[in-house]
Amino acid sequence: MLRDRLQSVIPPSRAFILWRLFHNKIPTDENLGKRGSCIVSICHFCLKQSESSEHIFFRCCVTFSLWDWLKKGMNRQLDLSNCCNLILGTSRIGSKLAQQLMTFAIVHVLWIIWIERNKRYFHGIQANIGTLINRVMSEVRLSFDLVLARGISSMTDFHITHLIHVPLRPPRTVVTTDIFWIHPEMACIKITVDGSSYGSPSISTIGVVFRDWQAGFLGCFVQNLGHATSLETKFSALMFPIEKVVEQNLSVVWLESDSLMVVNAFNTNGDAGVPWRMRV
Ligand SMILES: [Zn+2]
Repeated sequence: MLRDRLQSVIPPSRAFILWRLFHNKIPTDENLGKRGSCIVSICHFCLKQSESSEHIFFRCCVTFSLWDWLKKGMNRQLDLSNCCNLILGTSRIGSKLAQQLMTFAIVHVLWIIWIERNKRYFHGIQANIGTLINRVMSEVRLSFDLVLARGISSMTDFHITHLIHVPLRPPRTVVTTDIFWIHPEMACIKITVDGSSYGSPSISTIGVVFRDWQAGFLGCFVQNLGHATSLETKFSALMFPIEKVVEQNLSVVWLESDSLMVVNAFNTNGDAGVPWRMRV
């Protein structure tokens, strides 16, 4: 469950620090000591305690300010007993969007703590908590582009998006539109066409329906086009029935398409708007 949760939203470079933390493989003074290194241990954040993974990530009074910022911003408690509980705790909040943003924020806080620890440890450079918070927000905003989920109108979603300064992305409003079929003139055959492409280019299909002037069903067909762009599909949706019209010697037809670009291309002399692969 935890692996699924992380795989979907966490970049591999950030997931690696989590993996090391889960398995207690972070090279802190405590872990180096267990491997036989004889070093004087001190937390480079608070300079009061010896350094261990648990201390610098979850117990240190300095790094705790980052969790405090997240807790107050979210207006909820975080389970800081261990890394696993901390991540899994996000599955109980708000919408999918809020859960993913919260997971991003937690992972980036852990990652920023470790990066900052190394800067202090090896280079003697230190940033203040405000700068670290800004880095976390910046990283989460970058990752936000990977989030496809949409939020809901809840205070939890409002708090987390407001905290990170990202748009809420409310769910799409469902709009119902009445569509009326218009009768053609007497003896005219109306041909309604449409084409759909799964990507651009990708698997594409067209569908065509033939009806007489009284809306009587005359026939229909669908055809798989293989790989095509959306525009090529729309053009094909109109060209295939035209071939049928010629084949059946039909003289008066009304072609109906929802693509303005295709309609304009047919109403214009020359190849304007026609994909080059379809030009004769
Ligand atoms: Zn400390």
